Amino acid sequence: MVESKDRTRIVFHKGTHTIGGTLIEIKYKKSRIFFDLGALFNREIVIKDLDDLIENNLCAYVDGLYDKNASSKDMVKDDYYYENEALFFSHIHLDHTSLINYTNPKIKVYCSKDSKKALEALSINNKFVYPFSKNQKLEGYIRNIEGVDYGDIVKIGDIEVQFIRVDHDGFGACGFIIKTFDKKISYTGDIRLHGFRRKDSENFIKHAQNSDYLITEGVSFSFNRLGEDEAEIGEAELIENIVKVIKKNKNRPILFNYYQGNFERIKKLIENLRGIRKLVFSEYNAYTIKKVLGLNLYYIKDRDYDYKLDKDLEINLDDIVKNKSSYLLQIRKDDVDLGEFFEGGIYIHTDAEPLGDYDPEYMPFMKKLEKFNIKVLIMKTSGHAPTEDINYIIEKINPKKLFTIHSKNPEWVYNDSRSRFKDRGYAPYDGEEIIL
Ligand SMILES: [Zn+2]
Ligand SMILES: [Zn+2]
Repeated sequence: MVESKDRTRIVFHKGTHTIGGTLIEIKYKKSRIFFDLGALFNREIVIKDLDDLIENNLCAYVDGLYDKNASSKDMVKDDYYYENEALFFSHIHLDHTSLINYTNPKIKVYCSKDSKKALEALSINNKFVYPFSKNQKLEGYIRNIEGVDYGDIVKIGDIEVQFIRVDHDGFGACGFIIKTFDKKISYTGDIRLHGFRRKDSENFIKHAQNSDYLITEGVSFSFNRLGEDEAEIGEAELIENIVKVIKKNKNRPILFNYYQGNFERIKKLIENLRGIRKLVFSEYNAYTIKKVLGLNLYYIKDRDYDYKLDKDLEINLDDIVKNKSSYLLQIRKDDVDLGEFFEGGIYIHTDAEPLGDYDPEYMPFMKKLEKFNIKVLIMKTSGHAPTEDINYIIEKINPKKLFTIHSKNPEWVYNDSRSRFKDRGYAPYDGEEIIL
């Protein structure tokens, strides 16, 4: 008989029936590993530190996972540990990374090399993930992370984790193939097929075949049953559409904003607008793009922080206002008042913040633009596979058993599957431990 402690166990700590806050633990013998560590978001609650998140049940508490010094109320026990442990991030989105700075320094943190580069760049002004607590006394704005090459395997004691790149709108996103002595488990992270990296997602599917267990995201099933949502347009088509709008409106002022972690979309946009308009970024974004993609871009000086960019690339707002139709200016959510200089213009909102009308800042932002007589064009495509594509992914991987998470209706993912997964699917609850 195999003792239960020698069996692979999986704990779905959080993020099972919500979009956000994913935390999964896999344990085998003296090793345990975690996947993702974001918090749930509640606008009503002001978060000052880790204690606020734990007290308000916005993140899961696990002995040994957090840094004792991140808590000022002595809520964290960090002298509890396994012989081998590690934390893996699938990608940079905050619902998967925001607690990274509160993790126990004894636990090594891994993500893809691209994700590491992006996370470190985005954290430059200490406004991306939650900042260190006063007592942590750590240097910089983000804790140490180990970058891993796509395809590489990291061994944590008796568990192996392979990084496989997938298509998603967060730069460097990966899915994972996890192996213990007798079990193969695959985890999609966040995934889609309609971006620039379908081939990568297909490669993940190939690696994940013959899994005993597949853990899949089901974001699209939060809003629709199988087949009820429309197919998403591809990233390439989206870029084409944006370029078309810009070419068609030669003489109008045009503003835009994008999601800061989507480095691939902005890269393609920069490439496709060469010779058409001069792109000017906020200094923060120009900095992050320089760090991640190595591109030197025009920027407008930031008032609060010196990013030490090349002075020759700084553009004055006055120059842009004088030659409106030569430029394409990024305005971030807090820069909306700049709209007053661009009356009669167009604003292209491509998955930028505020993201949607569920965000209380969304309507005021849009109203302001309307007041300046600026036409808003929402031009976007989802980072997540629509329901039919999720169904395609699970059918093609065809695991022995399917766990569905990261969805408001994770049960729909397998209940709607046309045949095969009704009896093999399960949507675990937050905190549930399953012996495999
Ligand atoms: Zn994501
Ligand atoms: Zn996510």
